[in-house]
Amino acid sequence: MNNLRHDWTQQEIIDLYNKPLMDLLFEAASVHRKSHDPNVVQVSTLLSIKTGGCPEDCGYCPQAARYHTNIEGNDLMSVSQVKAQALRAKSSGSSRVCMGAAWRNVKDGPEFDQVLEMVRTINKLDMEVCCTLGMITENQAMRLAEAGLYAYNHNLDTSEDYYKEVISTRGFEDRLQTIENVRKTNVTVCSGGIIGMGESIADRAGMLVALSRLNPQPESVPINALVAVEGTPMEDEKPVEIWEMIRMVATTRIVMPETQVRLSAGRNGMSREGQAMCFFAGANSIFAGDKLLTTPNPDVNEDMKMFAALGLEPQKPFTKMVQPQTVEAEDSAFASLGEKPKWSRPGHNIERNLNASGKKAV
Ligand code: SF4
Repeated sequence: MNNLRHDWTQQEIIDLYNKPLMDLLFEAASVHRKSHDPNVVQVSTLLSIKTGGCPEDCGYCPQAARYHTNIEGNDLMSVSQVKAQALRAKSSGSSRVCMGAAWRNVKDGPEFDQVLEMVRTINKLDMEVCCTLGMITENQAMRLAEAGLYAYNHNLDTSEDYYKEVISTRGFEDRLQTIENVRKTNVTVCSGGIIGMGESIADRAGMLVALSRLNPQPESVPINALVAVEGTPMEDEKPVEIWEMIRMVATTRIVMPETQVRLSAGRNGMSREGQAMCFFAGANSIFAGDKLLTTPNPDVNEDMKMFAALGLEPQKPFTKMVQPQTVEAEDSAFASLGEKPKWSRPGHNIERNLNASGKKAV
């Protein structure tokens, strides 16, 4: 990526976000057309390969074991189950499968080996493979790359300041470290965040400052609207207004012109017209499938009807980068190191997280 700005200030981004909407939309759409075909949208399918029971305390997440939600947890899926789901996703127009596991961090061992086999299997189906598995070491990133991983997702979630109001079990710097570990490989980076968690516009801008300072900037930036799930600390947060989503997408597009901006969680509550405005504002990727990990998402047939109505085409796989090669497990150049990295655990009190988990502040 060349000629991209890594020196955006928070105030510049706030000013962009608050522009009159028609001016903001016009500027974002103009930037978008310089680097992307405005009629092509990338379609990813998100698969929860291991659901629930997570030890972390992310205030937005129904998969955290400490909150009282109605999530049905499951152990790690088998490679054949994942392959069947990937084939289904491919036949309905997805070019990418993103596999999510509710882990704090990856641990070397049979489960990670199984995930590596899933990566090899999906890459051989000629689909882009993405994983979101929590924090990873450099060696684990190398092993994922060798298996044929196309992208690794690790969201910054929000600004560094507001992060402390959302999660106490790990620090913002761990997110940056994992992204740095992924950057030692050819795997692309997918990193974005969530709006509607009670953060200010300055926090939204702060997150975009942090993402735009990454060099290279993430190839993909998901923008999620909070889905407030009962039993989580954020169950009472007001739904994000469509105008906020459009402004956030447009601002992201201007700040990071070459990235793929993904409309992610919260699309279920958006009208087709609202989504069309997001595409005009520069969103050029969506998650398909009737579930996003654990929360509802539009049905894939509805999405294809919307694409037809808007004249949009799904992006073909490996349009932006060549397909990685898959190295078989027996030919791997990397041994499992069995590392025990010391990821941080700030452990500060976040009142709403403690209330939702039924614990008292210490
Ligand atoms: S967002 Fe990820 S790390 Fe946080 S609680 Fe949910 S599954 Fe765990």
